[in-house]
Amino acid sequence: MTNSIKIKFWGVRGSTPCANAENMVFGGNTTCLQLESDSIPELLIVDCGTGLRNLGNKLDASDEGNKGRIFITHPHWDHLQGFPFFKPFYDSKSWFRVYLPPQDEVSCKEILQGHMSNTFFPVTIDMLEADMDCETYHPGKIDFEGYSVDYMWAKHTVQTAIYKFVIDGKVIVFAPDNELPMDTEKDSLEFISEFKEFVRGADVLIHDAQFNMAQHQERLGWGHSCWENVIDKTKGLNIGKLLLTHHDPDSSDDYLQKLDVRVKEEFGKNFEEISFVKEGQDITLSY
Ligand SMILES: [Zn+2]
Ligand SMILES: [Zn+2]
Repeated sequence: MTNSIKIKFWGVRGSTPCANAENMVFGGNTTCLQLESDSIPELLIVDCGTGLRNLGNKLDASDEGNKGRIFITHPHWDHLQGFPFFKPFYDSKSWFRVYLPPQDEVSCKEILQGHMSNTFFPVTIDMLEADMDCETYHPGKIDFEGYSVDYMWAKHTVQTAIYKFVIDGKVIVFAPDNELPMDTEKDSLEFISEFKEFVRGADVLIHDAQFNMAQHQERLGWGHSCWENVIDKTKGLNIGKLLLTHHDPDSSDDYLQKLDVRVKEEFGKNFEEISFVKEGQDITLSY
């Protein structure tokens, strides 16, 4: 019997939504990923950018409600703005657990409460009807039915996870906000070395490629990578699919289409697949 894992991209944009005509092929919604497998009996969602709203709208409002776990890489707006618009949260039959890496002294629940405080939004988190709990996820591997999750710290402007999911032995790494350094300082080299060990041999690596090299040189320390450096640092690591994401809101479809063709031509031999991902795209791993 063939099994499969489906990776669904509900939002691939970084920083802010961009509902412009020139962005509609790659999509204007911010980061939200869904992983599906026959081995996983509940929803598995990563990040709550505006793409989460569409995911919620597509779910069946079954008699039993929806059940799932949501892992958030970090609490920047582009990874949280869809949270209050996820319809299953307003269904008393639903059950969700939300995980966020520690943010200094502030708990996951306090961050989400603040995001949905009265000043910013009419519905507070306590008014959500689903059975909800928010947990601060300290580093370490956790096993759930059908999969495990672990993370390493990204290089970003706040404490941010690079999540690793293992489903039926298949490894999927998600790093939507991560600045791979280009310098050769000791710290940078140590980080690159740790990163390489973490992603080595992954079946799928979904990585931040918000900038190109020229943009990155002007935005060092902003917490994002350029596609040239991501390819350079990952091409010898036996990675199956390298999927580039967190597109800059100013990157038009025309620009991204041309880059997609270019990386396939120049680096297609280094990966089983390499592409700039689009909103609405599904990637299936069959085994
Ligand atoms: Zn982001
Ligand atoms: Zn961020």
